[in-house]
Amino acid sequence: MKGKVYLVGAGPGDYKLLTLKGLECIKKADVIVYDRLANINYLKEAKPNCEFIYVGKASSNHALPQDDINRVIADKAKEGKIVTRLKGGDPYVFGRGGEEGEILFSEGIDFEVIPGITSAIGGLCYAGIPITHRDHASSFHVITGHLRDDDKENPEINWNALANTNGTLVFLMGVANLEKISANLIKEGKSKDTPVALVSWATRYNQRVITSTLENVYETAVRENVKPPTLIAVGEVVGLRDKLNFFENKPLFGKSIMVTRSRTQSSSLVEKIMDLGGNPIEIPTIKIDKFEDNTQLENEIKNIKDYTYLVLTSKNGVDIFFDKLDEMGLDSRALANLKICAIGSATAKEIKNRGINADIVPEKFIAEYLFDELKPILKSTDKVLMPRAKNARDFLVDKIGEICEVKEVHTYETVVDPTRREEVLEVLTKDDINYITFASSSTVKNFVEIIGKENIDKLSNIKIISIGPITTQTAKEFNLNVYKEAEVATIDGMVRTIIED
Ligand code: SAH
Repeated sequence: MKGKVYLVGAGPGDYKLLTLKGLECIKKADVIVYDRLANINYLKEAKPNCEFIYVGKASSNHALPQDDINRVIADKAKEGKIVTRLKGGDPYVFGRGGEEGEILFSEGIDFEVIPGITSAIGGLCYAGIPITHRDHASSFHVITGHLRDDDKENPEINWNALANTNGTLVFLMGVANLEKISANLIKEGKSKDTPVALVSWATRYNQRVITSTLENVYETAVRENVKPPTLIAVGEVVGLRDKLNFFENKPLFGKSIMVTRSRTQSSSLVEKIMDLGGNPIEIPTIKIDKFEDNTQLENEIKNIKDYTYLVLTSKNGVDIFFDKLDEMGLDSRALANLKICAIGSATAKEIKNRGINADIVPEKFIAEYLFDELKPILKSTDKVLMPRAKNARDFLVDKIGEICEVKEVHTYETVVDPTRREEVLEVLTKDDINYITFASSSTVKNFVEIIGKENIDKLSNIKIISIGPITTQTAKEFNLNVYKEAEVATIDGMVRTIIED
């Protein structure tokens, strides 16, 4: 097998500002080499056994020197591996992508370069600043602010040309030299009143934008303690921010929300928070263990003709059931004589994906509501099949059992994932978290089990949002103070509760 290197532009930070091709390279990589500007969440898209190599931030002592980075990339490729080198923004915009490519070329290693959205353009965009505009700027210039010691005769940068263009100037890596940059531009004739924006952590939930003028910007930056990574944008276009600042106006902008659901279920909440400008911090407290031996399920499917109802209570339950059906050479026609019930819209949707519209989906997605609907129609001669999690609540089985025969088959189990303890505690102590969401009783229990009862006080400054009454009750039992409960017991309901708050 021949190795190959992909130099991938990982965009400015917003998770979704990545190309399809870039994502593909992440998914197929055997090794991913990344630094601090690439959004770390992309690593979740990698193959299970992918090797991750962190090469540090560009301007610190902890960074792997460029030569070592080049060496690692080349060596791994020579071992026959697919290496994806993730670089913030675009690989060729001050990303040293050119140098890395040249070395690969000289060593005869196959490579491709995948462009990315550079922070110089995309970062300004999210700050509400268009880099060109018919009325204000007909060119733009992206300049390194990492100035080598200026040779008076042959300055590295033609300040005179920059000062006398009408185009937008964007300096990258310029915070440390801001005083020099503004002084040089003013000295060469640029107006002291030219608007300047300092855009830090652009496109991320913690984006911060400070505006000033060329004359005052250094002072402003010192006062406001501006730190890298920051873009320095100079030009009239900065003023358009008042009208074009769509990103910071999103309803959850700047909010960090901890999402505790099982990995397979959390994606829709995470998606929604992201779309609304918030920062979802995903903590998978539970994982799904499918039972290897599903002979019991197989037997009941063989006898499916004896049943009149099939009750599915989770997306996982649906997947396991239909996969088994498929494995046995059957399809949805085998269920033609059954009434099918779903708890939860996600469950119903998954059933629909398998070609069936559920007959009964209760208005509120809890077992009690399903039973209220079933109670008047169930006859003593009915027979109900419930393939579901081992540790599910007994309520439905007990209640239905009072009316007719019910068969519960355990197809999977949700288990606590203790490997996350340190990570969760670190997030709780370090990050400024505004909300934490609980979408089921089991996530509450598992969460507390992971962090330990002794650490519950770490949640005291975080607003707890519960999906519904049963989850709230469980939270209370663990001395957790629920701040608000969703009016409708759905993911959307929880999101709405947070927005309204
Ligand atoms: N290849 C990258 C730039 C690498 S140089 C790109 O195309 O964007 C690193 C500099 O880029 C930082 O010092 C900072 O000035 C800028 N930068 C990159 N991402 C940024 C972000 N999200 N917010 C603000 N500045 C950013």
